[in-house]
Amino acid sequence: SIPLSFFSAIGAVSKRGVLVKGANYIEKLTEIQNIIFDKTGTLTHGVFEVTKINSKDISKEELLKFAAYAESFSTHPIAKSIVKAFDKTIDSKLISEHEELSGLGVKATIENKEILVGNKKLLNNFNITYDEINEDLNVVFIAIDSKFAGYIVVSDIIKVEAKEVISELKTLNIHKTYMLTGDKKEVALNVANQLGIDEVKYELLPQEKLTNFEAIKKQTNKVTAFVGDGINDAPTLANSDVGFAMGGVGSDLAVKSADVVILNDNIKSISDAIKIAKKTKVIVY
Ligand code: ADP
Ligand code: MG
Repeated sequence: SIPLSFFSAIGAVSKRGVLVKGANYIEKLTEIQNIIFDKTGTLTHGVFEVTKINSKDISKEELLKFAAYAESFSTHPIAKSIVKAFDKTIDSKLISEHEELSGLGVKATIENKEILVGNKKLLNNFNITYDEINEDLNVVFIAIDSKFAGYIVVSDIIKVEAKEVISELKTLNIHKTYMLTGDKKEVALNVANQLGIDEVKYELLPQEKLTNFEAIKKQTNKVTAFVGDGINDAPTLANSDVGFAMGGVGSDLAVKSADVVILNDNIKSISDAIKIAKKTKVIVY
């Protein structure tokens, strides 16, 4: 049976904006040894800003217009930043087809032109050659009718509390911290180094997040938690020992798949919840 004080621990953590979906997770919180984080929207704000536009054969304005039109149906934070940078009304009559390619980008037909907006992998999938671009930030590639047409650089900001949480987790007996991201190598390593995350895997498709999670769990044989926010994190959240979802900015599917929901999106709440759970357990036993 579950000790009564575990229910009061649920109340205590809820005051800090953490929703624990069952008293059994209070005990689980005390047992976490590995914590695996998603990057975008979890360790970073997930609010991108366009910092550069570079076009080939067409004007920057035209390139941004096509990109914004193609992205206008996407809820991805990169898509939102491109639509925001365009800053004009989107005439949806001009969009005849649109498709979101999870972990890659979007494909749309605009004024009878086929537009691709996304990462290198997306262009590789369509056998489109592109220029090598030296940028540590996130580069969004754009192709028009199967030809590379330019790129847009976007950047995200690391949450101020992230560094503090990673070092605090070490003091809470957490063995190792990891990051699994769909983002590219340079961005992934930059964020991980700044935060002191032990191990990083990058350029992962949604399904690869889950297989990497399971590989880490199997290798280490330790109770492993996962923290994420996106649709692409839902399978991993559902299969982790303890799944934490960002409740504010996070997708509904991530919230549904999680065991613990961080309602205020402050990842400091993760270490707070573990601390409270550990105190509760000391009182019980
Ligand atoms: P993360 O795992 O970091 O949360 P995602 O799986 O959401 O990232 O996306 C991985 C990568 O796929 C992004 O970094 C971006 O390069 C590309 N991507 C996904 N969706 C879009 C989109 N709508 N527009 C442009 N790029 C996208
Ligand atoms: Mg994410």
